[in-house]
Amino acid sequence: MVFGLRLTGDTDVVVKARADDGRAVSCVAAQAQLAKRGFPCARPDSAVWPAIDFLDNRDQAVVPAYVVETAERTRRRIRAAGLQCVLGRADFDAQNLRWHGREVWAVHDGDSLAWQPEAAPDATIDAMATGIAVLARPQPGHFDLATGYHGDLWLDLNALFLRPALLRPHVRWLAGQLGAHDIDAVCGPLDGGAFLAQAVADVLDAAFLPAYRDPAKKPAGYHLPPVTESISGWRVAVTDDAVNAGTAVRACAAELRSQAAQPVAVGALLALGPAALNVGVDLSLPFYPVETMTSQVWPADNCPLCAEGTPVTRPSF
Ligand SMILES: [Zn+2]
Repeated sequence: MVFGLRLTGDTDVVVKARADDGRAVSCVAAQAQLAKRGFPCARPDSAVWPAIDFLDNRDQAVVPAYVVETAERTRRRIRAAGLQCVLGRADFDAQNLRWHGREVWAVHDGDSLAWQPEAAPDATIDAMATGIAVLARPQPGHFDLATGYHGDLWLDLNALFLRPALLRPHVRWLAGQLGAHDIDAVCGPLDGGAFLAQAVADVLDAAFLPAYRDPAKKPAGYHLPPVTESISGWRVAVTDDAVNAGTAVRACAAELRSQAAQPVAVGALLALGPAALNVGVDLSLPFYPVETMTSQVWPADNCPLCAEGTPVTRPSF
């Protein structure tokens, strides 16, 4: 239990109460060190906390077995890593954050620190992140994709970019993967692919190359606007919001090669269906999708859902 109080005389105090299960001493010591070094956190005044029986006596058996098993396996894996430990925040979950609109206003439990390999505190932040598949509001059904294909999944790709802050952890992950290829620029087809390319380029301090749809090029062509310097010899990552057959990604790679640039990796927020997994193989490039969703597409005149008489679904957005 944590309270923030302002005493008479304007002293700000944080009161935290918990059972002492042996960790209080190290928590207080770690926070005291942080406060001493100028980190903006409360300076501990006391290590004496009363016991809280109602928390200690809670029935842990209500936690589903698969959650416990996953936690234990993850713990063993991280402990076996032998990586260098870092001091990180270990309790980054929703109940500890208070928001004013979209700004974080308060982060409780500031003494929940962990001395573990970086993957452990990183993972707690990742767990906070909203999954891409949730942001795209997937809708199952029987859809006319207006590309000559029918499919069993509809995604709201515009919704992916409605709140850029929710994409931030995913953009960082992608930037980590693509940045390992020593890139000069990130190229993405408008709209969504370019939005993602710009965000990744920003993190990596790389150049951003938006690719514009070129109706004169069939089946799906893109052109790059002229930049002040030649892109010849540049190592370029190509991104798209969702990759299905990979038509746009392939077209961008072809355009880059035509200007003597070298596509070196492909990144996407979503890979859809089996075709997406072949994109990297087809292009002979490493492919990094943040998430993969199963879906199927068929040529409209050979659609099994049409054949069995399933009516075409109208997307709800
Ligand atoms: Zn159909």
